[in-house]
Amino acid sequence: MTDESGSDAGADFIRDIVAADLASGKHAGVVTRFPPEPNGYLHLGHAKSICLNFGIAEEFGGRCHLRFDDTNPTKEEQEYIDAIQRDVRWLGFDWGTHLHFASDYFEQLYAWAQDLIRAGKAYVDDQTQEEIRLTRGTLTEAGQNSPFRNRSVEENLDLFARMRAGEFPNGARVLRAKIDMGSGNINLRDPVLYRILHAHHPRTGEAWKIYPSYDFAHGQSDAIEHITHSVCTLEFSDHRPLYDWCIDNLPVPSTPHQYEFARLNMTHTLLSKRVLTELVRGGHVSGWDDPRMPTLAGLQRRGVPAEALRDFIKRIGVAKANSTVDIGMFDFVVRETLNKSAPRRMAVLRPLKVVIENYPEGQVDHLDAVNHPDDASQGVRQIPFTRELYIEHDDFMENPPKKFFRLAPGREVRLRYGYFITCTDVVKDAAGEVVELRCTYDPATRGGNAPDGRKVKGTIHWVSASEGIPAEVRLYNLLFTSPQPDAANFASQLNPDSLEVVSAMVEPALAGTNEAGPMQFERQGYFVRDRDSTPGKLVFNRTVGLRDSYAKVAAEG
Ligand code: ATP
Ligand code: MG
Repeated sequence: MTDESGSDAGADFIRDIVAADLASGKHAGVVTRFPPEPNGYLHLGHAKSICLNFGIAEEFGGRCHLRFDDTNPTKEEQEYIDAIQRDVRWLGFDWGTHLHFASDYFEQLYAWAQDLIRAGKAYVDDQTQEEIRLTRGTLTEAGQNSPFRNRSVEENLDLFARMRAGEFPNGARVLRAKIDMGSGNINLRDPVLYRILHAHHPRTGEAWKIYPSYDFAHGQSDAIEHITHSVCTLEFSDHRPLYDWCIDNLPVPSTPHQYEFARLNMTHTLLSKRVLTELVRGGHVSGWDDPRMPTLAGLQRRGVPAEALRDFIKRIGVAKANSTVDIGMFDFVVRETLNKSAPRRMAVLRPLKVVIENYPEGQVDHLDAVNHPDDASQGVRQIPFTRELYIEHDDFMENPPKKFFRLAPGREVRLRYGYFITCTDVVKDAAGEVVELRCTYDPATRGGNAPDGRKVKGTIHWVSASEGIPAEVRLYNLLFTSPQPDAANFASQLNPDSLEVVSAMVEPALAGTNEAGPMQFERQGYFVRDRDSTPGKLVFNRTVGLRDSYAKVAAEG
């Protein structure tokens, strides 16, 4: 990250440009837009663009439009239009009355294309897509003029009208701008402005048989909406001369300017709608909102608060050069956000039964447990202590290494909020696996302290076997094990262990319907109730793990 990325979101080069344009009076107010193509769900990269565009509008007292760039009906769907609106709102932004669609401007764009034809600046080309590609030239070689480049205005107008009327099949003709086949910028070598496409459009239905290219729709849509700063990612830099050419050569109502910033890349993550679509279609994940997906819907379902996402975007900043953010930084911000407010609960993910032999059968002791260590206003709840309990399998070792301070034969530990217990016996199954521990407890240590002042080194969490509730817990790991997965063959790089499902026991407080928000399972991480939960079966998703000092000690030992 560069020094442009400090936590002070007020300072980045785009905001500097906006501030200068307002100060100089170039613009009376700022108008931005977020322009998604509705061909998939929004991902983390889009969140950067959303926070930038809507953030600038908020900070400078302007407005930000949500505009769908719906110019390619073969890939676009109403489902995506709906999901994108939901996700932008969830992230915390509001476009007010400014919900727009490039398709709203199809009639105007068509009229402007006719203007270009009349001015001798556009022509209908009968060459195939392949012929156009082959005659475009290379970075070092000029392209060749199309044999159809010098058609008369009348013929061009007639053919263009018949393209619109649906007289020709897909690919038979295109409308091209007449700029310069020798231009150093390939985007200016007579770019395609319109193509024939017989397809159903989610909004205009069958009305159109031709559709404008991104380049012909985008800048003009900006101009129609009086966008002042059209902010997009760096890959569009080479398109800016074409953006400006269209604005300069058409009677548009305003003069927007395009500015480019670096897209968000993150380790172990592919932020590309093409890849994400294939993950869904190929059944590699359960859907667009699978919690392993870097989509906003997936992150939301995983339990990531919108606030954490906004904070993450703020911290990574906006730069002019591409870079890759470490996914650990994302986890860090999520953890930090959740730590502040998430109530603490106890859940045992891999249960090992413990029988307290000197504790009366059928007796239930209700122990006080604080809901948040740093926020007394969250209060205290009661958790039931009984003769049979579950502890984490990992919290017991028969032959512990030196630095393992949890339960072992003959060893005394503290049960969180409860009593000291000592392991007196180990029960194994026929295969030699530990299946149960026999323990004793010291009634004088209720609440976690011994009156005689003796200390124990380990404190472990637990859940009552009779009062606890079974739950399915879904543990998510990296979707891609490689830090820089290759988008070209992502399928072979999927982590086979990206989802681990365990049968857990959770404390009874988690059965309440008020427990839908994110919470910390003590010593485990942050979790959220999944929408697959039913009254009879709770399901939790792990949002992010804790940095677990216990695991570190075990590794050292
Ligand atoms: P993808 O590359 O995933 O297919 P896209 O750029 O085709 O995405 P659009 O719907 O066209 O998706 O994007 C809408 C806006 O979001 C554009 O202005 C684009 O520049 C921006 N955007 C897309 N990906 C990123 C990213 N990784 N980081 C920042 N902005 C992004
Ligand atoms: Mg795009």
